[in-house]
Amino acid sequence: MWQEVDCILKTDDTGIDTWDDFAKPFKNLIIGILSQNTNDKNSTRAYLGLVKRFEISPVGLAKAPRSEIKEAIKSGGLYNIKAKRIKKFANAVLEKHKGDLSSVVNLPREEARRELIKLPGIGIKTADVCLAYCSDCSIIPIDTNINRVAKRLDLCHSEATYEEVQNSLEEVIPSKQRIRAHEMLIRLGRDYCRAKNPLCQSCPVNIEYACNGIHKKKLCSSVKLNKREENNNNDERSKNT
Ligand code: SF4
Repeated sequence: MWQEVDCILKTDDTGIDTWDDFAKPFKNLIIGILSQNTNDKNSTRAYLGLVKRFEISPVGLAKAPRSEIKEAIKSGGLYNIKAKRIKKFANAVLEKHKGDLSSVVNLPREEARRELIKLPGIGIKTADVCLAYCSDCSIIPIDTNINRVAKRLDLCHSEATYEEVQNSLEEVIPSKQRIRAHEMLIRLGRDYCRAKNPLCQSCPVNIEYACNGIHKKKLCSSVKLNKREENNNNDERSKNT
């Protein structure tokens, strides 16, 4: 997610400090709300629309008229619902946390999550993304891409819940590598391991028997093909010697 956001922000002449926006809990959660059920490109455009019109702070967005927030985030889809969520969220941060989420994200991981998901519009994945980028918690947020890839790679069982997928990945990925792993697994899911028609033939992790389920057949046939070609080449070579 961050790579797309960073890329769009870099090419847009907003003067925004990209890291600052993603590493500040309130701004990160606003980006999170805008990204729900929308691709990163559109949600980032919506965020830029918001930045151009309002100060991205609890006070700034609590004061902003909902109709104007709606207008500002139109490019991101579901703007009616999201404008409502943004207003409610900004008001709740003001009322419950006096406009400052830094003490929340610095709580122990489970407590911080519990507090964040009490806020309107914030689900477990949005809370985890915030903790991954804005706190010292080493956590892997699980989006639909990561969920799918983890199951196909047999890193967890096929019916695993959000928490089970997360625990399985965190067992094998050292804490310092988790943000990178999160970003790379999303990329793998989007670029190769798509929900429909995964590109097993060109997938960089196309390792024999690595993937399970319906894709194993495709994967195995591609591996077998490569093996056959390899054997043929070896035969050719031994004939020529
Ligand atoms: S080989 Fe296929 S099923 Fe396995 S991770 Fe790659 S795209 Fe997904």
